[in-house]
Amino acid sequence: MQRRGAVHYDPDQDTFRFEAQVTGQCPYCGAQASANDCESCGRFHDDAELIDGRCADTGRVLELRPFERFYLCLERLRPALEDFRATAFLPAELKHFMDWILSGTLPDIGITHLADYGIGLDVPGFEHQRLNMTFEHAGRLFTAIQQLSGDSEDPDGWRSWLEARSVKLIPFFGFDNSYMRAILFPALLFGYCDKLIQPYALALNHFYLLDHQKFSTSRNHAIWGDALAAQYGSDATRFYLALTRPETQETNFSTPQFEATINDVLIGQWQAWIADIQNRLSTHFDAMVPEAGPWSLQAYRFYDDLLQTCARVKHAYMPETFSTTRACHELNHFVELARCFGHETEPLNRARPRPREAETHIALEMMALRTVALLVMPIMPRFATAVLDTLGEAPEAHAFTWPDPPVFIAPGRRIDGLCRHDFQPMPSEP
Ligand SMILES: [Zn+2]
Repeated sequence: MQRRGAVHYDPDQDTFRFEAQVTGQCPYCGAQASANDCESCGRFHDDAELIDGRCADTGRVLELRPFERFYLCLERLRPALEDFRATAFLPAELKHFMDWILSGTLPDIGITHLADYGIGLDVPGFEHQRLNMTFEHAGRLFTAIQQLSGDSEDPDGWRSWLEARSVKLIPFFGFDNSYMRAILFPALLFGYCDKLIQPYALALNHFYLLDHQKFSTSRNHAIWGDALAAQYGSDATRFYLALTRPETQETNFSTPQFEATINDVLIGQWQAWIADIQNRLSTHFDAMVPEAGPWSLQAYRFYDDLLQTCARVKHAYMPETFSTTRACHELNHFVELARCFGHETEPLNRARPRPREAETHIALEMMALRTVALLVMPIMPRFATAVLDTLGEAPEAHAFTWPDPPVFIAPGRRIDGLCRHDFQPMPSEP
């Protein structure tokens, strides 16, 4: 709706100021905030609610002056938001956030302003105003779906495309965008097309810190992804980021901890386990995969550990319970269990005559290695592909196949070179 509100005005420059051009204190939590949003509590506030609004560049105190523009009346969309709150899969923290917002009257939110970026208004008398970029997100989604539909003739192609499918929309976003993603986005989608599409689940990140301070490209307090991947490998980099993802609180990146994880976990456990399997296979079985024989109690227990790991990692990848840190921790824990199983059962390999249980043990470990490679494929695709290739698994067989149930490597297959994958970092540039 069109109405008059109060926004910040800079008398020295004779101009209105919006968004990050204004700084002050959040009326809800008192932290430093911009004209409309607060990174600390994630809540939206009206321009007129900001305490001690000043120009972000000069620090000068700004006035509030009347300004005619368009507003979204969020309270009218309350039923849609309450429905979304009740049906979507949300982290506990976002449930709490939504309940906090919904416990009060929902505000009118200014959707147009003066800026030299954004989509201009095609409304007589308001040609100089532009759409606030926050409100482009829903439109962008429909533009993307229209492109997916491949129908450039029908302007409602996006609608037919959605109606013909069951789509699960899962936004990933930072905590400071909670209001935009958990309140405005579902409200706008409902405004556009009722319940045709709504986020199925929301996945939240907190801030990821570098040496306990916020990343900042302007202060060069940053890490460049391509340089990191070039030195440490994209698999190790993605593994560490997945392991330390700030899912429920801020977490920290530090190069010494990253290197320690590579050395102690990826090289010290994962690579050591794989090399150990190859060593035992070559030493005791002429590098040929044996056929499993009778099962020992240890074999049953190890197989049960493997099944449980599959189930837990599956849950960690599902949008309803998404957690890359849990996926990594589960896999690390299983690799430790697998190493123990290898050590525990090694004496039987040396027994003469060798009991057939020993063949079951190594066959199970190779099954476990194949399974672990498939489970870690989304995080370490190069490593997983290299392991599966060395195990002689055809690429088309393992591309996106969940190991349910885990299966044995074909008996009689010759396996050589399992320990070739190298997590050793490249020397850093001088
Ligand atoms: Zn706040």
